[in-house]
This record gives sequence, structure tokens and C-alpha cells, in this order.
Amino acid sequence: MQEHKVENRGTLYIVPTPIGNLEDITLRAIRILKEVDHICAEDTRHSKKLLNHFGIATPLISYYREKEAEKSGYIINLLQDGKNIALISDAGTPAISDPGAILVQRGHQAGITIVPLPGASAVTTALSGSGITGDGFLFLGFPPSKKGQRQKFIQSLVNCEYPVVLYESPRRIEGLLQDSIEILGDRNGFWARELTKSFEELLPGKLTDLLEKSAGTNKGEFVLIICPGEKEQVTGETLEDLLIWYRDNSELSLKDVSKKLSGDLGMSRSQVYQQALSLWDTKK
Ligand code: SAM
Repeated sequence: MQEHKVENRGTLYIVPTPIGNLEDITLRAIRILKEVDHICAEDTRHSKKLLNHFGIATPLISYYREKEAEKSGYIINLLQDGKNIALISDAGTPAISDPGAILVQRGHQAGITIVPLPGASAVTTALSGSGITGDGFLFLGFPPSKKGQRQKFIQSLVNCEYPVVLYESPRRIEGLLQDSIEILGDRNGFWARELTKSFEELLPGKLTDLLEKSAGTNKGEFVLIICPGEKEQVTGETLEDLLIWYRDNSELSLKDVSKKLSGDLGMSRSQVYQQALSLWDTKK
């Protein structure tokens, strides 16, 4: 094994696999998968096809969500006995909306060397092809599947200033879009469907355009990106004008508005708070 290793313990490698196109696996990933003593895989039958394709005959251990906690102990024991192990998932990067985090956490606790490999993931592939600009993004994986919980989840995104990246199954993409439009309005969005596969589709548009497209043809795997709402221009010359604007146009609390404006204007927070208090009272 050429990679670094602590004492006589094994190393746990986190190995991304393709999200569609079999060419999207790194040379290092193939080498590690060949060299380790065991490969932990979510669905061993599914992963066998990939491994056979690359001539990898390493023995497999099944490691899936429902047995994550139980299997982790066994795998940590193997690592402590000096076995080198690679963790893969059905597709993409393990532990990203996939099992793996519990094993990695326990590995850290047990002093095992963890080596994550860079590689394919739907979130980064979709974002890089979206053309959505900005200083960052919020990746939240799968939204809750039940309607009520999903609506609450979307409600929590109303004031988010970053593009939100979501994973969704084809069965639920339509419902997710409907609820998003209802709660967030017709924002700009983007979907990436069947990334790296024959029917790859990158589609920028308003959420209503995407909803229209999704009706009846919602096959394939999706990444949905929802852009932040347009910022309204804050208007006002005096402190009173600004306070009234925030009171009537933002979701911020009296306390948060006072904090923000005292910082923006270089005024004492209590002074701004007192004036805000009188204006908030007037509103009632
Ligand atoms: N660990 C994976 C990763 O790194 O991207 C994600 C696994 S998660 C169980 C599966 C979800 O990822 C799918 O439901 C879909 O939202 C997204 N996904 C995976 N492959 C995709 C692809 N080829 N095109 C679009 N979305 C994909």
C-alpha cells in the first residue's frame, strides 16, 4: 500500500464512483479498489458490475443505511486488525446523501486513518454546469418526502441568500416544484437530469417552466437548484425611513433590524432600538 498508514492499523478510503458514465472514475480510485483487502458497498450486486468492468476482484462487504451502525463496529475491528478498506456507494461520493458518515465518524474516534478521494458527485457536477453565480451555495440533499414536512422545509428557505441545491427522485420532483412555487414564488431555477448519461439535460428556467417540463416526463435522476429571491432595493434617507422600510418589507425582527442598522449607520444600538420600538408600536 503506497498511501500513509498509522502503526499496524489499516486505512479507510472513501472512494467516489461514477454517477452514470463509467469513464468518470479516477486512476487512483481504481488502484485503491484493487489494492485494499475489502470493499464496503451499499448494494454488492450493483457494485459488482462496476468492479467487474474494471477487473477489480477485491472481496465485498455489504454496508447499507439500515445496517450502518451495526456494520461499522465490524469494519472498525477489521481496520484495527490491519485490513485496508475502501468504502463506495451505489453512485457518486459516499456519505453525500449516502451511507458512510457513521463509519467515518467511528473511524476518527478509533484513531483510524481516513483517506477521502475526490471524484464524481451529482451536486458539484450540476452546479458546475448551471452557470449560477454567487459566493456559495446551500446543499441540503433530499427534501422530506411527506408533503407537510416538505412545505415546512421549503418555508425555512424563504430568506436564504444562497442558491439551494437539492436531490430529488423522479416521483417527487413535480410535487417539490409545486410546493416551491407556492411558498417561494416563481424563482429562477435549474435542473440537471441524468448527468453524465445519454439523456443528460441541463435546464435553466423559472420554476414554473421546470414544472411544466416535469409534468408526465419526470423520468431520471434530478438535481434541482432554486435561486434566491430577488432582493428588494432598500429605500430611505433617514433612520426613520429605513426603519419603516424594514418594518414593512422584511421578515427581520425589531431586534435584528436595530442590530443591522446600527452597524450599517454606525449608530448606537440602543438608540436605534428605541426609535424602532416606537415605530413598531405605531404599526399596531
Ligand atoms: N452520493 C451521491 C453523490 O455524491 O451525488 C448521491 C446519492 S443520492 C442517494 C442519489 C441522488 O443523487 C439522486 O436521487 C439524484 O438526486 C442525485 N443524482 C445521482 N446521480 C445523478 C445523475 N446522474 N444525474 C442527476 N442527479 C443525480
